[in-house]
Amino acid sequence: MRFDEFENGLSRMVSWWNRKPLTDEQVKIWFRKFGSLPAVAWTDMIEGVTNECRYFPTPKDLDDRWYKWRQDNPSLWAREARRNISCVICAGSGMIFLWGAPGTFVRCGHCGNSDAIPAIADAMKMTVDQITEHGWRLDPCQAGGLV
Ligand SMILES: [Zn+2]
Repeated sequence: MRFDEFENGLSRMVSWWNRKPLTDEQVKIWFRKFGSLPAVAWTDMIEGVTNECRYFPTPKDLDDRWYKWRQDNPSLWAREARRNISCVICAGSGMIFLWGAPGTFVRCGHCGNSDAIPAIADAMKMTVDQITEHGWRLDPCQAGGLV
């Protein structure tokens, strides 16, 4: 999903439970975890938690919702999985995660997806070649699954 779609869902939850807005760092962590989901799934998940949860959902609650969404919508999931991942390197998230330093990433130099994410505008933008030339390694859990 696009960052604005992700942020809309997050804002809905924050206002629904009357929570303090998340910090940029928290938003990054959440986006790293859920940014590669299709927007339609994210919207359904947010709708589900606001209808059914009595408290602000944990990432585990949303993981469970994501699992259930895929079970409930197999053909939609297959379609979205093909359509949504426009960049095979970053899986649309705009970020490439580095190995050895948790939370460390660069902006994906293979697509323009990171340009739509103001929270990470100050991070370096690099391609996979530039990362390896720099002597860094890619996180094997990178959402794109290419590495
Ligand atoms: Zn990319």
